[in-house]
Amino acid sequence: MRFGPEILSRCDALAAISEDPGRLTRTYLTPQHRAAGELIAAWMRAAGMEAHFDALGNVVGRYVAADPQAPVLVTGSHMDSVVDAGRYDGIFGILSPIACVADLQARGRRLPYTLEVVAFGDEEGVRFGVSMLGSRALAGSFDMSALERRDANGVSMREALVAFGGDPATIPALARDGVVAYVEAHIEQGPVLLDAGLPVGVVTSIAGGTRLAVRVEGSAGHAGTVPMPRRQDALAAAAEMVLAIERHCAERADTLVGTVGKLAVAGGGAINVIPGAAEFTVDLRSGDDARRRAALADVEAECRAIAARRRVALAWEPFFELAAAPCDARLQAQWAAAVAAHGVAVRHLPSGAGHDAMEFAKLAPIAMLFVRCGNGGVSHSPRETLDPEDAEIATGVFLRFLEHFDPASLSA
Ligand SMILES: [Zn+2]
Repeated sequence: MRFGPEILSRCDALAAISEDPGRLTRTYLTPQHRAAGELIAAWMRAAGMEAHFDALGNVVGRYVAADPQAPVLVTGSHMDSVVDAGRYDGIFGILSPIACVADLQARGRRLPYTLEVVAFGDEEGVRFGVSMLGSRALAGSFDMSALERRDANGVSMREALVAFGGDPATIPALARDGVVAYVEAHIEQGPVLLDAGLPVGVVTSIAGGTRLAVRVEGSAGHAGTVPMPRRQDALAAAAEMVLAIERHCAERADTLVGTVGKLAVAGGGAINVIPGAAEFTVDLRSGDDARRRAALADVEAECRAIAARRRVALAWEPFFELAAAPCDARLQAQWAAAVAAHGVAVRHLPSGAGHDAMEFAKLAPIAMLFVRCGNGGVSHSPRETLDPEDAEIATGVFLRFLEHFDPASLSA
């Protein structure tokens, strides 16, 4: 195997760079972000690329075309992680194209376009609660107000970025023009390819999503003295809303998923106090934006009805929305040709998870290649696995895609 074992050993080396002892957690603008980025930049340079940290802490590697005016194909993925993460999410989409460039460089092969490989500093949004910061900046849709968001320790993104050596003032200048397309390889993070017995698949579209914060205000009271009918229990109301959201999405499971990932009694709660306020989050996703918006309106109406019946107040605050991103048909066909050339049956599948590619959809045609996950398709978990044979095949497919990619194919 030319690629698989080295890519997996590099995934292991990056997994060792963690904020938490004994598990992988690597969030934005931390010393571990710096160390991982430096290692990735060193691998980029060894492969024959120019590499640097940009103003937002992304690592950008460039394999420059012979013609410096040539169009730019951007690829990459994220180097941050969730808490207690797996080691392949994001990372594979950085290391696989670096391996491709090393192979091209070894053969003295330049491309008719400049290839940029970007390791995004933030995609998961763990530290500041806003995701896809890196790809948003390159796509020209970075919201500068995000700089004022604070992490759990009260540090603002602006402060953290300056301490990292970044430059908030030049973020707008990161927006790219002249990008002919964006492609991304990523582990599937689900069981579809595993169940189909296929190492790779071509993504059709990336689901859009809405995230919201919900606060339920009832009335605190003594757990022993307030009779049940008089109560305005915020947590019981929130619990009923959580189940209503789950039921609504389950009834539309072919096009919709919904998750309440956080639920808390305000102030932490006490065993002998009726909860006066409760807060929870909602994450709704669909490949169909109209269905997602309809579901959002429907579950809000259901939650308001529950709140009215239980005599509690409801604050319903969407704070994040991302449109679904269809993958370009011409690029899908080019991925499919590369997959077929490796003797693999071509399978098309949607992406339920969000990816950096979504942000680029506003800027240029996008497409993605999925790689099979083992272990039931589990991801965002240390139980995430990637078979070296699958990494080998996916990287071979990626290399073939890059060698056959003609920027003019997208201008027709
Ligand atoms: Zn990812």
